[in-house]
Amino acid sequence: MAKLFEYEGKTFLEDGGIAIPNGELASTVKEAREIAGRIGKSVVIKAQVWAGGRGKVGAVRIADSPEEAEKAAGAILGMEVKGFPVRKVLVEEKLDIEKEYYIGVIPDSSWKTRAPVVLFSTDGGTDIEDVLEDKILRVKLDYVRGLPVYDAIDLASRAGIPNQFLVQMAEVISKAVDIFKKRDCTILEINPLILTKDGKLIAGDCRMSIDENAAFRHPEIRVAIPREFPREPTDFDMVGWWIEETDFRGSGFVMKMTVDETSPGFIGFHPIGGGSGMIGIDALSRVGLKPANYADTSGNPVASKIYRVAKVILSQPNIEGYFLAGFMIANQEQWHHAHAIVKALREELPKKTGFPCVLLLAGNKERESLQILKEGLKDLPGRIEIYGSEHVEESDFIGGRMLALVEEYRKDKAGRYGV
Ligand code: GDP
Ligand code: MN
Repeated sequence: MAKLFEYEGKTFLEDGGIAIPNGELASTVKEAREIAGRIGKSVVIKAQVWAGGRGKVGAVRIADSPEEAEKAAGAILGMEVKGFPVRKVLVEEKLDIEKEYYIGVIPDSSWKTRAPVVLFSTDGGTDIEDVLEDKILRVKLDYVRGLPVYDAIDLASRAGIPNQFLVQMAEVISKAVDIFKKRDCTILEINPLILTKDGKLIAGDCRMSIDENAAFRHPEIRVAIPREFPREPTDFDMVGWWIEETDFRGSGFVMKMTVDETSPGFIGFHPIGGGSGMIGIDALSRVGLKPANYADTSGNPVASKIYRVAKVILSQPNIEGYFLAGFMIANQEQWHHAHAIVKALREELPKKTGFPCVLLLAGNKERESLQILKEGLKDLPGRIEIYGSEHVEESDFIGGRMLALVEEYRKDKAGRYGV
């Protein structure tokens, strides 16, 4: 599910014929002030993050002058909302609210439905999870047919929308469904849809995700990394993605686990497959170490992909070690890993005197692979320990070795720099 920011989603709403407030995006307080000046009346300043519930935490603020807009933007741009740093704010005209509604098109994967459903509520503005079940109306969507206006009229009138707004509301609901289809959405929520005092329906907010498997059909929706992603990708994640983007020969996955690496104990983590990932993190966390990144080179990738993943892992400036976690008896030929890691470490270790490396590699062609690692790395200046399947069930032992090498390395460095 590739998420979009509110401001991106709103451009697609507008394109699909749903009105949005007049507004612009700002990344500095000065821009926010200028935009407020151009709008020329009270504005709403809204944090652009991949999270809802911004209203409750002060990440949506009203400003009655450009000066106030500047101040509000300053406060919001410095915030973190649900772990997301705010880098941009949307500055929009403030609407005079008569009433707030909720429109959602979301998938329902339960066996009874197995289709997107259209949700509508007259209790908009709050999180839909907090709205009483009987205040939410629901129609199963026939995807091919969509939701024609006459069906949407039925939905809106069941919700008790007064006659004078019925067609207008039904048109918005029907258009929301069209937009959901046109952009290959997995979620489209307008909450609130605002009825203004002068009788217009305007989308006050927009939460939109698109199916990452359809991202290639939508160059207009700039999805940086078309895969399930918990947050905005970092530069590190982008470089990792380029390894995968056009090369489907096995996986060569690498992404940042944490963006805060100021504390000690982070390890460049290179598991082979999901199971190894779990056992490897377990091995590290039992001894107080932490993975700086996640990775996966399984599905029999070629050596060039594994090499690039290892290089990206080793590029992290604050890591105190490199851990190849091949806790598996894989049917993939592990000598591709051996060759790739020899090449990566031969290039990187001369820059990192005494750098700890624990290399566990088990599986098909294991004997040959361990031989390649031993031969290829024997003259390097690192602290390198190489293990095979005899230790594959001993995460305590492997974690313990990693910690022992890290402690030696720390002592070494302290001696060298006199700290
Ligand atoms: P969320 O909390 O992250 O979902 O952010 P929303 O964009 O939904 O804004 C939260 C709330 O702020 C809305 O439900 C409104 O009550 C209020 N709000 C947002 N835009 C406006 C506006 O233009 N005028 C007024 N009066 N209130 C607004
Ligand atoms: Mn909202």
